[in-house]
Amino acid sequence: MPDGSNPHLPGTDLKVWLNGRIVHMDDAKISVFDHGVLYGDGVFEGIRAYNGRVFQMEAHMRRLYEGAGAICLRIPIDAKAFEQAIYDTLKANRLQNAYIRAVVTRGSGYLGLHPSKTADPSVFIITCSLALYPLELYEKGMAIVTASTIRNHPHAVSAQVKSLNYLNNIMAQIEATQAGAVEAVMLNHEGYVAECTGDNIFIVRRGQLLTPPGSAGILEGITRAVVMELARRRGIPVHEKNLTRHDLYVADECFLTGTGAEIMPITAIDQRPIGCGKIGLMTRQLLEDFRACTRGEIDVQV
Ligand code: PMP
Repeated sequence: MPDGSNPHLPGTDLKVWLNGRIVHMDDAKISVFDHGVLYGDGVFEGIRAYNGRVFQMEAHMRRLYEGAGAICLRIPIDAKAFEQAIYDTLKANRLQNAYIRAVVTRGSGYLGLHPSKTADPSVFIITCSLALYPLELYEKGMAIVTASTIRNHPHAVSAQVKSLNYLNNIMAQIEATQAGAVEAVMLNHEGYVAECTGDNIFIVRRGQLLTPPGSAGILEGITRAVVMELARRRGIPVHEKNLTRHDLYVADECFLTGTGAEIMPITAIDQRPIGCGKIGLMTRQLLEDFRACTRGEIDVQV
């Protein structure tokens, strides 16, 4: 939009935390010379608050600071100050239940890749109400497709770094949309299942819960870790194992996990119904446990 307003946030009046100040969204601006814009040079986190409590705050801060450290990016505030900034942003927006986007860019510099060309990193925090997927999909399950775009090679920048460069995943997302789906499975360079564009993937096979390992080049999601722990507490055997597309097609159940998605049941992949094409029992149980976890009724720290 020429005036800079966002057509996807009509009528919203959000306050954004930007480099230590809370400003109106229209004034939350960063430079065109910021290396986050020029090169995707930076890291981010997607976090969630339930009833005023930030879910798995420590794990998100750990991943943010570790990711920044791995790309030699020094976040100008410490984790405690970052946590406070998140709570301040939620308060400024009067939000109890929210999606939180925390971003650190390399900062404003000049053309030329090297970070020595930048000044201080930029930090900003956006909080908003968000329903990632339509509610009805949690009732009837979602159909997904396999994308031809593969996940980043694990020997390139690690997928554990939630970097500002999501182009592979965006290309896979476009493929999903073109196929009439909302999510796509991405394979890795060896043809094994990695994850979806913004979610991890699990299958249930003969009573066991299976999910690709970190070595498949996935982002080891925080929701994924919570779900694995909840499954273990239910006595369900959990294995991290390389999976093929065939494994997905013959699974009894399948679901995705992510901060935005929570647990999304999958009932079809590449037009093949999964199990009996309905949401499976283990998926339902884990979703129930996960919701209890977000309400603080089950305590899991990952
Ligand atoms: N994989 C990718 C590629 C992601 O971007 C995300 C986060 N949206 C996830 C998995 C899920 O991670 P988390 O559970 O930590 O949100």
